[in-house]
Amino acid sequence: MIDSPQVDFTVAAVREAALLVQEIQRELVSPALTKEDRSPVTVADFAAQAVIAKRLADRFPEEVLIGEESSSALQTESGRVLLPAVTKFVQRCFPEATDTLVLEWIDRGTGDPPQSFWTLDPVDGTKGFLRGDQYAVALARIDAGAVEVGAVGCPELDIIHANDHRRRGTVAVAQVGQGAFYTTLDQEPGWQPLSVSDRTSPDDARLLRSVESAHTNSGAIGELIAVLQIGAPPVPMDSQAKYAVLAAGKGDVLLRLLSSSRPDYREMIWDQAAGSILVEEAGGRVTDLDGNPLDFAHGRTLATNRGVLATNRKLHDAILHGLAQIGA
Ligand code: AMP
Ligand code: MG
Repeated sequence: MIDSPQVDFTVAAVREAALLVQEIQRELVSPALTKEDRSPVTVADFAAQAVIAKRLADRFPEEVLIGEESSSALQTESGRVLLPAVTKFVQRCFPEATDTLVLEWIDRGTGDPPQSFWTLDPVDGTKGFLRGDQYAVALARIDAGAVEVGAVGCPELDIIHANDHRRRGTVAVAQVGQGAFYTTLDQEPGWQPLSVSDRTSPDDARLLRSVESAHTNSGAIGELIAVLQIGAPPVPMDSQAKYAVLAAGKGDVLLRLLSSSRPDYREMIWDQAAGSILVEEAGGRVTDLDGNPLDFAHGRTLATNRGVLATNRKLHDAILHGLAQIGA
């Protein structure tokens, strides 16, 4: 396992927030939830961002955080009713938390990215969180446009007991040049290296895709499967849990195609940073759909990249070629 203060911090922060989000899910989602009621995920998003922002401020006071959330939604009339619940959950990590402090901690994650900064998705895969499927807490440090360290915490993912991908939770971490490692959320049985699969032939590639059709292009995935004669149907999975599965060699190709309703969509940095370094450090390759490296030097989005293709490296060129053939 990597011996570095940044890795220690990233793992501890992601693990603490993932356990808190899991508690919020058990206490708020399970008992009663109407389909339109997004409040549990809102409480979880804000609580996780407040906790990680505060941990970062305590540990590395000079460092900047760019998080998905800001306190403005909690200051509206409908948002204000959720604030006591957010504060109550944050108090489990920081007993001194008050409503005012929680708003202040959340807003440590706003602003414009400088050359080096941290980026956080407090609950990635919110639709999965509400459905009881996969979701992830994802934190990464960026320096000069590239990911330096990244970790994901996935309470519903179990890579060791892989059959259903969900049981004891997973924490996975990588640092550039230092490899990628994973353990369960309770850190038993300890850290193990992540390594991508050896598959070289597209016809037995295992594809990972978003559950939400609006986040990808299902028609184009079907065309790609046809031109490359891929045998198995794609595995739908929410969040950056997909990257951890790919890094562990339990999948071979991760596709983020552009949905036809949002052809100009650009990926948010916190949706790709932590996951992409896991795959690269496990021996895989991550580019956009044109084969260009992901460039994290353009603010809160990957403004110069179109979609994402992550693979075990051996399949990368064949998939890029297939994407060019179908015009994706
Ligand atoms: P996934 O769970 O893989 O579907 O990815 C979830 C992420 O997709 C969310 O965190 C959103 O930021 C992002 N997202 C939202 N709208 C789109 C879109 N039109 N295309 C691609 N990704 C999107
Ligand atoms: Mg997200």
